[in-house]
Amino acid sequence: MAGPGWGPPRLDGFILTERLGSGTYATVYKAYAKKDTREVVAIKCVAKKSLNKASVENLLTEIEILKGIRHPHIVQLKDFQWDSDNIYLIMEFCAGGDLSRFIHTRRILPEKVARVFMQQLASALQFLHERNISHLDLKPQNILLSSLEKPHLKLADFGFAQHMSPWDEKHVLRGSPLYMAPEMVCQRQYDARVDLWSVGVILYEALFGQPPFASRSFAELEEKIRSNRVIEDFFAHPWVDLEHVPSGESLARATALVVQAVKKDQDGDAAAALSLYCKALDFFVPALHYEVDAQRKEAIKAKVGQYVSRAEELKAIVSSSNQALLRQGTSARDLLREMARDKPRLLAALDVASAAMAKEEEAGGEQDALDLYQHGLGELLVLLAAEPPGRRRELLHAEVQNLMARAEYLKEQVKMRESRWAAESLDKEGLSESVRSSCTLQ
Ligand code: ADP
Ligand code: MG
Repeated sequence: MAGPGWGPPRLDGFILTERLGSGTYATVYKAYAKKDTREVVAIKCVAKKSLNKASVENLLTEIEILKGIRHPHIVQLKDFQWDSDNIYLIMEFCAGGDLSRFIHTRRILPEKVARVFMQQLASALQFLHERNISHLDLKPQNILLSSLEKPHLKLADFGFAQHMSPWDEKHVLRGSPLYMAPEMVCQRQYDARVDLWSVGVILYEALFGQPPFASRSFAELEEKIRSNRVIEDFFAHPWVDLEHVPSGESLARATALVVQAVKKDQDGDAAAALSLYCKALDFFVPALHYEVDAQRKEAIKAKVGQYVSRAEELKAIVSSSNQALLRQGTSARDLLREMARDKPRLLAALDVASAAMAKEEEAGGEQDALDLYQHGLGELLVLLAAEPPGRRRELLHAEVQNLMARAEYLKEQVKMRESRWAAESLDKEGLSESVRSSCTLQ
């Protein structure tokens, strides 16, 4: 095959240009159709002489499977051709590169992005599994992105894919060790479920930047998969939120926080009281889940109801004083802006902060506002550290404090709403429970 040093091979009807990537047995080029459409495609070239019997079979399976399916999250095979040297798979071009590069240039992906990607991957896999097709080589390098502006996943590289019903067992070792299910690595015996293991590894890599069992050798990998050492990041992750797992301690921790909240409330510190009530609610919800005694459960619920009402009142108080502060802050903010005119970086950071405040006013804009606050504050703190003493520093300092308070407050509002939802859904569960028990009584 024409390797990278020799430039791309020639193919009738197309102009092959840059190399997009290469994998186990193929090199993929970007290409233009010579026809007037000048359509952009990706052409996967496989040198015939590099093919042994097994890889011919893989290639034929890849063509056969991809030819027969059409799915928004599976790369489309438009055509295939061959000449004396190569076999060519002409595919839809994915301008966003592969998921491996996408993750690593960003270090990690935000949970929200990872979730959308998982949804797209799941829809492609469900489609394949309904047709008894297993991919068997799921990894970030084989998942492409339609574009970088609006990335959609496209599952690619069906070189190892197999027709496989859920109960079929296979013994051939396929795929890439880091993403391989343990039954494949350790027992060399597996079924269609191995794709799901790989999905878990991919999700982990998206969130933490590297696969959970990153290893340099096969032996090290097997040792890591078999060992029961904990994967610390997982247990400490706020999404897993082990701190709030329902337990015998939940109620005591909630109560302790309420005691502090009441004290702050009596002292007239509404913001601190609100914050403590919210923290307490985070423990009351698991406490309710933990409690089995119906009467005690009702008693807790009644109390929680009272705390939620007080928190709502406090929220109104804090919010109106925040607004007053905001009005007060306006002139100082304008002055700061004026003084930042010769500092584009500071101006840009202040713009991000203004955008955050604007988002906050929009219905449902809380999460976006929080992201903007975090981004803006990150910049402002760096700038503050480098700012020499003087009036501008004072103003900047006050603005940073003000923005931090707003972001904190917003975070609490989001949390409180979530706790309330959790408490409400608990109510519904309680209701269906009592309906069920009355049915059994009759
Ligand atoms: P192999 O079977 O040799 O692993 P792949 O099909 O995985 O070949 O392609 C190798 C690499 O080429 C991919 O990881 C990706 O970076 C790039 N690539 C493959 N197909 C496309 C495409 N349709 N659009 C853009 N890049 C692609
Ligand atoms: Mg590949």
